[in-house]
Amino acid sequence: GEDARKFRNSHKSKVSGDDIPIPIGSFQDMIGRFQIDKQVLSNLIDAEFVEPTPIQCEGIPITLAGRDLIACAPTGSGKTLAFLIPLIQEILHKQVSKNYGIRGLIISPTNELAVQSFQQLETLIKGKKLNIAILSKQLANKINNDIIKSSKYDIIVSTPLRLIELVKADKINLSKVEHLVIDEADKLFDHGFSEQTDEILTHCTNSKLQKSMFSATIPSGVEEMAHSIMKDPIRVIIGHKEA
Ligand code: ADP
Ligand code: MG
Repeated sequence: GEDARKFRNSHKSKVSGDDIPIPIGSFQDMIGRFQIDKQVLSNLIDAEFVEPTPIQCEGIPITLAGRDLIACAPTGSGKTLAFLIPLIQEILHKQVSKNYGIRGLIISPTNELAVQSFQQLETLIKGKKLNIAILSKQLANKINNDIIKSSKYDIIVSTPLRLIELVKADKINLSKVEHLVIDEADKLFDHGFSEQTDEILTHCTNSKLQKSMFSATIPSGVEEMAHSIMKDPIRVIIGHKEA
């Protein structure tokens, strides 16, 4: 309504798509609207994340409404929490048996970015029984040698190459993945990576797969690619002038 319009004007944000959820105005809004896990909320507060940033205000309710998302917001604007908070919430919400398989997958173009996302993920899930991993070289070796079963993890953060090697070797199964996050999508759909990203997508065969992509820039080629792999996505652009 009117409040959402004012909110978006003041943040120079543009949101387009069908049936757009209203943004959250505070993290506490997630209690009433989405029954956010209390522990996760207090982990946020403990980490001194007091107020959500604009991309978090828009992105969190869109993902929690079950929608695919194309999100464009400047570097440093808090995109990581914008995908981690709803990802964790949805995964905690659904109880599954032990070793059910990987349900959340976050793809980053570099190991350094993967580490950053993983560290924020660790902060958010403190006190919760979730198994998370970053696909480091060491972990990849252990999985490859059957020392560790990848199905013990609920959420995995990885670069495309390391993941695709293990997927091809049948050491990682992506058929249970319900949430796929493509971070820095402009890079992951760029020439050097797009083949690997596509291949990962073909292995995410769950019919309920929800997809989101985050980037500081969305070149038109990437936007086209996004629309071709997504179902009725909502597009959020923060702090950009109309192109
Ligand atoms: P981006 O991915 O958009 O470049 P990040 O997710 O890496 O940005 O966040 C940039 C910085 O802002 C990080 O240090 C992060 O901890 C911090 N940050 C994110 N969300 C909030 C928030 N709601 N309140 C305060 N700091 C935040
Ligand atoms: Mg980022």
